[in-house]
Amino acid sequence: MLSKDELDSLNKLFEDKEPLEVLKWGIEKFYPKIALACSLQAEDLVILDMLSKVTEKPRVFIIDTGRLHQESYDLIEEIVKKYNIDLRIYFPDYKEVEDLVNKYGINLFYKSVELRKACCEVRKVRPLKRALDGMEAWITGLRREQNFTRGRIRKIEIDEVNGGIIKLNPLADWTWEQVWEYINKNNVPYNKLYDKGYKSIGCVPCTRPVKPWEHPRAGRWWWEQNSDKECGLHYREVK
Ligand code: SF4
Repeated sequence: MLSKDELDSLNKLFEDKEPLEVLKWGIEKFYPKIALACSLQAEDLVILDMLSKVTEKPRVFIIDTGRLHQESYDLIEEIVKKYNIDLRIYFPDYKEVEDLVNKYGINLFYKSVELRKACCEVRKVRPLKRALDGMEAWITGLRREQNFTRGRIRKIEIDEVNGGIIKLNPLADWTWEQVWEYINKNNVPYNKLYDKGYKSIGCVPCTRPVKPWEHPRAGRWWWEQNSDKECGLHYREVK
């Protein structure tokens, strides 16, 4: 869809631009075949709020792994009330979940990194494939400072893992402080888990609050010492 040269020039153009400009470009070029992947984290809500300013009915999808926090479900209700969105919720294939938990146990994720990733694969990555089916672009709330695996993400990428579609990361260069400044200034709904000490939000059994001195991602799969702390939705190389 975009050559490497085109991609490089676009990234050069947008690197110093505001996230809204990246979103405007994405909507103009791809709507309606562009959607926000909303994991109910602060960054996603910032983007959703911005999207509501550049398009009448943003397309949004949420992957419900079946193990989300009640606070995350409450937030879904809140955003449905506040924003005019075309929301789709994707669940994992029940047969795949049944096979996995009957073979390895209901809490298989605690047994090994491999089994934890197998759970993420079935409950997150495969539903993502369905969510992206027919899309030409998707939008994420990824930021470079979130994790060492994300330090080199670009605002516009070609997502080879998902069929070569475009992946937009409009907040790539934003800091945690900028995210919350936007939320507070614009009265954006947010996940109440942040008020309880969470800094990154995933599934109930795999996420815990962090201490002020801990890395924000320390609360994700906290029992893993040497893993990349990624679920597979984003950690693969993209150009
Ligand atoms: S975060 Fe935990 S419960 Fe959620 S899909 Fe991954 S391993 Fe499974």
